[in-house]
Amino acid sequence: MPKVFFYAIIKTLMDELKPTIGLEIHAELKTRTKMFCDSLNDPDETRPNVNVCPVCMGHPGCLPTINKKAVESVIRVGLALGSNIAPVTKFDRKNYFYPDLPKGYQISQYDQPLVSGGEMHGVRITRVHLEEDTGKLLHELPAVEGEQREDRPDASFVDYNRASVPLMELVTEPDLRSAEDVIKFAKELQLILRTLGVSEANMEKGQMRVEVNLSLNMGTKVELKNINSFKAVELAVAYEIKRQKEMIEKGEKIKQETRGWDEKKQATFSQRSKEEAHDYRYFPEPDLPPFETSVFDIDGLRATLPEMSEAKRERFANEYKLDKERVELLVLDKELSDYFEQAVSELKEYSATCPVQTLYNYLTTDLKALMKESEALIADLKFTPRHFAHLVALAGDQKITSRMAKDILTKMFESGLDPEEIMANEGISVSGDEDAEAAVKKVIEANPQAVADYKKGKTASAQFLFGKAMGELKGRGNPQKLKELIEKYLKP
Ligand code: MN
Repeated sequence: MPKVFFYAIIKTLMDELKPTIGLEIHAELKTRTKMFCDSLNDPDETRPNVNVCPVCMGHPGCLPTINKKAVESVIRVGLALGSNIAPVTKFDRKNYFYPDLPKGYQISQYDQPLVSGGEMHGVRITRVHLEEDTGKLLHELPAVEGEQREDRPDASFVDYNRASVPLMELVTEPDLRSAEDVIKFAKELQLILRTLGVSEANMEKGQMRVEVNLSLNMGTKVELKNINSFKAVELAVAYEIKRQKEMIEKGEKIKQETRGWDEKKQATFSQRSKEEAHDYRYFPEPDLPPFETSVFDIDGLRATLPEMSEAKRERFANEYKLDKERVELLVLDKELSDYFEQAVSELKEYSATCPVQTLYNYLTTDLKALMKESEALIADLKFTPRHFAHLVALAGDQKITSRMAKDILTKMFESGLDPEEIMANEGISVSGDEDAEAAVKKVIEANPQAVADYKKGKTASAQFLFGKAMGELKGRGNPQKLKELIEKYLKP
């Protein structure tokens, strides 16, 4: 067979190598106490080993008790994803040794997960179960102000504050095909967890951890783990798809293993060969009985779910006639979208035309710029959504110029006053019709060339004259009125 022909066949095979990707996502739940004891679940605690007790440290003879709030949180996640809530569920021991696991086993769920099934963005959910987190290994002691610490390059340290913090694990079917799919899914899940208020789900803080199972053409599975940002996950998945394609092209075998992400080299690297489920010697947790989820008011929990992102997208598109990009910006920011909705509801009172688009623009450009400049949050704003709506109505109905609107907004930002109050205080007023007429007359007399040009069909001349007239009025003209007058005077 000619070499070129052979190569062509191989090349065709390569092009058909399809990535098959499934995800395992862990998220720390926002509860007051840990999963099986009364120790505090405080992610902001900086002193090591203060939120610990004999139960989460696995002292012999200590019995765990189930954190009801954690179970409820996972049930709510299941309801939001349209999943099935198991009528009966139980906990199991997953046995392995590691210094960050004080008990020598993790209490998890094996064959009867709390939640199963459901779907998000076309990706099927296999299961969502509940377990406990591990402690944190530190290979360098963090510096503490005012404290002298011995340098111990030969030692590692362990902080058990996080040990036994409630953790949910969501597993998907291998329905994803690309790095973009992975990021889209993970970000949407993060949004859902935040909307439900069950987790902060901050990747950088390790509150949400995305593990990727990836294979080409359903071949050997490689797991990507310990990656702590969306960007790094995206890069690692793209890198791994390319790496495996090239290996198959060269006729090399892909090893079943766990790989991490090397930020410096921008490459994945082998961490360890993958363990099998039977290595963990799962067995039912003897200290916790199976329990019925009917002890929770499931229908009540379903009825009180907040509006989820997908429903919000649809509603914002229909109700406010915003395009996809604008809707997304609002849906991703609850504080901003709440403010937007409050302001829109006030806008109707001030303006018959109800310029929602104008409100969106002032909110996301001018106001956001002011906030960014002084590092203010929506909660820090001194003026109310009603004041903001009033300003937008004045600008949207062209009672003030956009220049004036921006100045007034800056003053509102500083003082928290209503725009009309600021206009009265500062002597900002829109010029009267007589002034406007005088200004337009003056400008038309002074610029015969522009008038002649306009009559020859150069419509831009009207804009030039408008600018001149506004200048005469020191920026205080009523733009709508000025436009009308200029048109009137230019007409033969
Ligand atoms: Mn897990």
